[in-house]
Formats: sequence, structure tokens, C-alpha cells
Amino acid sequence: TPLTPDDVLRLVQERDIRFIRLWFTDILGQLKAFSINSSELPDAFEGGMGFDGSSITGFNAVEESDMIAMPDASTFAVLPWRPEEQGVARMFCDIQTPEQTPYEGDPRHVLRRALERAKALGFDDFMVGPELEFFYFKDTKDPTPLDEGGYFDLTTLDAGSDLRRETVLALEQLGIHVEYTHHEVGPSQHEIDMRYASALKMADDCMTYRITVKEYARKYGLHASFMPKPLFGENGSGMHTHLSLFKDGKNAFYDANDQYYLSDVGKAFIAGQLRHSREMSAIFAQWVNSYKRLVPGYEAPTYLAWSRRNRSALVRVPMYHPGKEQTTRMELRCPDPACNPYLTFAVLLQAGLEGIEHGYELPEPMEKNLYHLAPDERRRLGIEQLPETLGEAIELTADSELVLRTLGEHMFNRFVEIKRQEWDDYRVQVTQWELDRYLPIL
Ligand code: GLN
Ligand code: MG
Ligand code: MG
Ligand code: MG
Repeated sequence: TPLTPDDVLRLVQERDIRFIRLWFTDILGQLKAFSINSSELPDAFEGGMGFDGSSITGFNAVEESDMIAMPDASTFAVLPWRPEEQGVARMFCDIQTPEQTPYEGDPRHVLRRALERAKALGFDDFMVGPELEFFYFKDTKDPTPLDEGGYFDLTTLDAGSDLRRETVLALEQLGIHVEYTHHEVGPSQHEIDMRYASALKMADDCMTYRITVKEYARKYGLHASFMPKPLFGENGSGMHTHLSLFKDGKNAFYDANDQYYLSDVGKAFIAGQLRHSREMSAIFAQWVNSYKRLVPGYEAPTYLAWSRRNRSALVRVPMYHPGKEQTTRMELRCPDPACNPYLTFAVLLQAGLEGIEHGYELPEPMEKNLYHLAPDERRRLGIEQLPETLGEAIELTADSELVLRTLGEHMFNRFVEIKRQEWDDYRVQVTQWELDRYLPIL
């Protein structure tokens, strides 16, 4: 059963907690926090804690920047990297206006709203299992890998083993169930996989995961990075995201009698991902750098197709345990771990529900390696591709009714404005590649 405010007050006494960090997330998925004295807790639970939201990216301008952070007692956890005595705990907050209505600029609220739509359509749970990949580097100025390890390499090659172990133990203390950890394909690249969970808990857990990985790297004097493509010529870091819907405790994607073990609901949901991924792309791959990852040849998807085994497709229906109800799901391979997880899960859910509500048809699976398909053949098969740049992606988003509905008008406008600005900043840069290529000959 979830922790209540009374449980939290008791735990704070028992564990000698002096400070409570109130956590929330800005529009771009950056974790924000302020700390309160534990003696303020009863007041915090009563009416929330006021703060000035004017300098939070995507929040209101100075004229109307009084915000309330309302702590969610069920998310209380002690921070394992802070001292045992006079310790520090955290709670995620829902952001409210002074009128005590949910603040439309709060990403947590955007996800809650999407979950309500799923409820209204009869689904009581949206399960999400993300696989966040990341690199360990020497520091923020020096992206030199620490090892030459590759996929599943261990011990001596893997400079991150001890660090990863400590990180996993910390994540477990923070209430996150870790299923797998391993060295990834890239040098100094790692993956720690959490057991799938309800979307809101999972979005909170992604925020916790990123800060925890970074905190422990720091302890070892290193820098952990979720940048989607930090090294040219190596794999980037993805956040493959496994999705399923539950209805009355049963997996609504499962059908024992279908050749793919997929129900009509599951198929329509997948069709929703394929149909809407171009316009959602700026949400799940939100940085200029995200599009350097989404290129052929590095196990990241570029083409809008689905498949069971082929990892070059946008959507995979994993076949580890074919026909097992509980594990029937789809895997979306395009998101990266530097996304805002609340907005990402919200928009993926809305796209899937769109497919279910309007009965989208799922095309045939594509089992070929799509990287090897000639452009003509791809066009003949009607296979589209993801946007190639943030500039292309944000203009698709700007025209998207689905993303507008998902984010709400306030957040949608801010998001488009911020991302257009980022693209404009990047567009005018003169890169090393251009100097190397053109200066000698032009
Ligand atoms: N790093 C790859 C990506 O960018 C995924 C590699 C894998 O997990 N098989 O998505
Ligand atoms: Mg994996
Ligand atoms: Mg992986
Ligand atoms: Mg995967």
C-alpha cells in the first residue's frame, strides 16, 4: 500500500531526516528541487509549499509565477547518497496554481491527464518498461571512454562494474526494482534495466534513475551522460520503451489465438505509434543531438515499421517468451534517455489510444533489415522515416493536433518556441566538419 502523509511523518522521525527535497520536473525533463526543513512537513502536506516559478524553463513568466509544490507522500524515499545522520529524503510534487488547480505547465499533470483518458476507455493500467543507456566519461569536458568494452563484456574490461553495483544498490533503496545491468555496445556505455511499472511511477523512477547514476559517477570522480549520441562512429544511447495496457488485471495486448499473440487492442495501439511517431518525435527525441543517433547502422531505428526480431524497425514485438500473457508488449526503439519521461509516456499513450479509438489497421511486419533497403524499395513498400533533424521534427510537432491535445495549449506553445530557438541556434553554427571539408578546397 502507498505511503500516506502519516507514514512519512513517522519515517522522518525514525530515520532522523532533517531535510526534505521537493522534486519536480521542468518542460525539458530537467529535475528541479528545493529543500525544506522536516518540521515544515505537516504544512507542506496541508497546503503545499509556495515557490517562485518564473525561472523554471517552460513555467510562467514573472507576472504570474507564484506556484505551489504539493508533495506526493507515496513517493517518499531517503536519498542514499546523503548522510545517515540528519539525513535527506525526497518526494515528487504535483505543481499547482495558488487557486489549487493543477498547473498546466507541470509535466506530471500532462501524464496524469493522458492516464485519465486511458481510464475513460476502460484501461486501468499503462505499463512502461524503459531501457536507459548511458556513458561514463572522465568529465564534462572530456568524453574519453574509460574502457574498450563492448556488449555484455565484464570485469577487467568494464571499468564501470563497481560503480554500477553501487548504483543498482542505491536504486533499490530508492524503491526501484532493477532487473538487468550490463555493459552496452559502445565503449564505456552501460545499461541498467528497471522492472516495468505503472507509467507515473516509472516516469518518476526515470528521473530518480538519471540523478542516481550521475550522483554515483560523481562519487568516483566521473561524469555519467545520457546524451543521445556523444561519440561519432559509436552506438548512441537509446531508451527503448516497452509498453502495454491492462484491463481488469489482464494484459489487454494479449490474444492466445493470434499468430503474433497480439489482441486487436495491441495491434491498434502499435499502429498508433507508427502513424504518429513523426509528429511525436520532438518529444521522445527532443535535442539537436537526438537526431545524430537516429541514423542507420547503430541499432537505432529510422524507419516506421514493426517487426518481431529485426532491431532496425521502430517497433519490435519481443518474442522471448512467445504466448506468455504477462510479458506480451511492444517495444518502441526511438526514444532516447535525455527525453522528458512524463511527456514521452503521455504522448505515446495518447497515440496508442488514438489507434484504439479509431481502429487503426496494423500493417504487415517487416522482418528484413531495413537499413539495407534501397530508397526506391522503401518507397514502394510505403515505409516512411523519422524526421532527420530537430528542425524537421519540431515543425511536424507544431502542426500536430495530437501533441497539442496531449501537452495542452500552454505547454505546447512553450515547447515549440523553446525547440525552434534551439534549432535556430544550432543551424547557424559552422562546424569542424565543414572547415575540414571545405577550407582546403574552396
Ligand atoms: N544503443 C542502441 C540505441 O541507440 C541500442 C542497442 C541495444 O540495446 N541493442 O538504441
Ligand atoms: Mg536492453
Ligand atoms: Mg541496450
Ligand atoms: Mg531493447
